[in-house]
Amino acid sequence: MAKEEPQRTCISCRKSIEKSKLLRFVLAPDGTVVPDLMNKLPGRGAYTCLTSDCIRQACERKQFSRAFRTEVPVVDPEMIQQRIVSSMEDRIASYLALANKAGKVVSGSDMVAEIIRKKTSVKKYVLLAADISEDIGKKIRGLAEQHQVRYATFFTKDRFGELLGKGLRSVVAIQGDGFVDTMNKEIERYRNFLRGEGCTYE
Ligand SMILES: [Zn+2]
Repeated sequence: MAKEEPQRTCISCRKSIEKSKLLRFVLAPDGTVVPDLMNKLPGRGAYTCLTSDCIRQACERKQFSRAFRTEVPVVDPEMIQQRIVSSMEDRIASYLALANKAGKVVSGSDMVAEIIRKKTSVKKYVLLAADISEDIGKKIRGLAEQHQVRYATFFTKDRFGELLGKGLRSVVAIQGDGFVDTMNKEIERYRNFLRGEGCTYE
């Protein structure tokens, strides 16, 4: 049996769930509350569900002051949420760069189309740039649907190029079960957060 993951309680709704499904906050040295998406920052942590409702409540009801047992400056929920969204984007970017370093990313519409068509048991995931041309976008989405390959629209051609160390790229494909599962989970979590949906994403 898998080892049970430690649980933490959301400071807003008081639900107790697995630590990895919650969002961790810490107090920065300057005494402000910062979200810690990578679970890396030192110090005592306070947790909320990854939903705007719970984050907003924590800010408005001064739950952070209570959790950190010290008076913390007023936290602007909008600002915190923006920081969370950009941290999530950074995380997705770093996974893409990591997969690329491991040789698990191909880019460009012809290469990606080939990967989608290829018969293999290895999982694949396709990312389309938000500014992809209509024709190429339609073609890649159609192929992905036909071959039951998951895809998402994310980033821009420019950002893909920058992350992969190449020129503009309108579409990329990631291969390999581990990378695909992680990417899928991260993107789902990002989408759920933007939609204001629930905290469970696994
Ligand atoms: Zn909650």
